[in-house]
Amino acid sequence: MRIFDPHVHMTSRTTDDYEAMRAAGVRALVEPAFWLGQPRTSVGSFTDYFDALIGWERFRAAQFGIRHHCTIALNPKEANDPRCTPVLDVLPRYLEKDGVVAVGEIGFDSMTPEEDEAFARQLQLAVEHDLPALVHTPHRDKAAGTRRTLDLVKESGLPVERVAVDHLNETTVRAVADSGAWMGFSIYPDTKMDEHRMVALLKEYGTERVLVNSAADWGRSDPLKTHKTGLAMLEAGFSESDVDDVLWRNPVEFYGQSGRLLLDDLPGFTASSDTFSGNSVLRGGGDR
Ligand SMILES: [Zn+2]
Repeated sequence: MRIFDPHVHMTSRTTDDYEAMRAAGVRALVEPAFWLGQPRTSVGSFTDYFDALIGWERFRAAQFGIRHHCTIALNPKEANDPRCTPVLDVLPRYLEKDGVVAVGEIGFDSMTPEEDEAFARQLQLAVEHDLPALVHTPHRDKAAGTRRTLDLVKESGLPVERVAVDHLNETTVRAVADSGAWMGFSIYPDTKMDEHRMVALLKEYGTERVLVNSAADWGRSDPLKTHKTGLAMLEAGFSESDVDDVLWRNPVEFYGQSGRLLLDDLPGFTASSDTFSGNSVLRGGGDR
């Protein structure tokens, strides 16, 4: 099984996770820029984070045999903090970088006017930079948030096939399926969507325009949920080719619209002493 995880926050994960993901078939991923848990207080905190996503984390993933890409944006939650919103002015410079394959995560958290403005402005950036957009739907008031999301996308002029609407469930999937946008599902350990509910949705909606991700981050989550969904699909009678559509060909098609995916084969972990800015992923044994 080859896997492209289209949404996983590796900055928050360990080297054990990278090794387990590689062993399970993960060969490429996308790490969306997001909230860190601890609120940011300045634009500099964003730029150091963005630099890490296009620099250090990309290097770190490659050391474990995984191609790393990212999306860049002001996340919905911090769009409400006036100390953070000036980051919108520095986004254009990041949206030109190799390895940046979409604008995201954008969208709604609490559906405030500030979020509305940051969302619309960043959809415009996606248009200007010829990039897809990864849109997060709110965890509360999901149905209204999803409707408002689809309205804003329509108003933006960004072609709907360049938009993935993420964190969907049984109550929100129909509207997105009918809109022509890509349908993203985050598979979590306890709440929200799990792999068996996902399989039921795949039976109902088919595999086209469906993206399955682990959305693993600093909270309780599981970076192997993509693999577990693939196994649940096979158990339910889907073919290997169906699994490949959902876990590989679909995310490659969606993010491939950026023209910036790197999908050549890498060896797994080789304990190489390669460095990035003087840092390697080795500890001890000749390393500093
Ligand atoms: Zn996320």
